Amino acid sequence: MKLVRFKYNDKISYGVLKNNEILCLPLFSNQFPKTLEELITSNMNKLTEIEHSIRNFSEKELKKATYRLDQVELLAPIINPPKIICLGLNYRDHAAEQGAKIPDEPIIFMKPRTAIIGPNQLIIKPGFVEKLDYEGELAIIIGKKGKNIPVSEAKNYIFGYTIFNDVSARDIQFKDRQWTRGKSFDTFAPIGPCIVTRNQLGDPSDLRIRTWVNGELRQDSSTRNMVFNVYEIIYHISRVMTLEPGDIIATGTPAGVGVFMKPEPKFLKHGDVIEIEIEGIGKLKNTVVEPSSQ
Ligand code: MG
Repeated sequence: MKLVRFKYNDKISYGVLKNNEILCLPLFSNQFPKTLEELITSNMNKLTEIEHSIRNFSEKELKKATYRLDQVELLAPIINPPKIICLGLNYRDHAAEQGAKIPDEPIIFMKPRTAIIGPNQLIIKPGFVEKLDYEGELAIIIGKKGKNIPVSEAKNYIFGYTIFNDVSARDIQFKDRQWTRGKSFDTFAPIGPCIVTRNQLGDPSDLRIRTWVNGELRQDSSTRNMVFNVYEIIYHISRVMTLEPGDIIATGTPAGVGVFMKPEPKFLKHGDVIEIEIEGIGKLKNTVVEPSSQ
């Protein structure tokens, strides 16, 4: 299933996206969790239950709780994750473009949840940020609490996947020589447009991932170029910290970010439109604004 959070008539809800229609789950049945975060943190069997009951209802019954995609405003699928954990240098092609050594263990850092925005929402570039950049990434949504999770078990801890833009202020990131300040601004974590459940996405080890800026293709790679695959990532992170339902893990970006473009870097400016597409998930689109007052 593809799950989306949305606003309809000023009311926030969630549902299943299919063929440009959304089946609003809480409206369809009061047996279902009231929010998407509640569904993620509830027992994962709930998903199977939902899939099962949808199959058992007629088109006519489903229609009563269905909206057209163009009637709603899509929102970030998660806004209050316990943590957002990100990987640095996790694609061989991205390490190569900057002449960096491939790490022997994942390099991790964290972003605050206050950085989250949804699809079509605005990335705010403060005036004092000069080198604003994008990073298209596959994100894992954790569905089950765990610590010291073996690689062979990791799959069972995944609720689903979404798209993540690890927006970065390169001037600040390189000046500080660590990531927190340069990557933690409000609006620097666009996610969405949906969460694809683990079973629907299937094998995450060879998904095409592309990023465009104003229609120009900048990143075109595959998750097969990851240094650590999604299961290895879960193993490594869970050796350090307990993973909890709703945690977001952004798995790193491939080659083609603005800062390493040849012959010279290309940074984001007011009005630029960034689109990130991952096979099997969809497309996340956001526009940059630089308010004159900041
Ligand atoms: Mg990144």
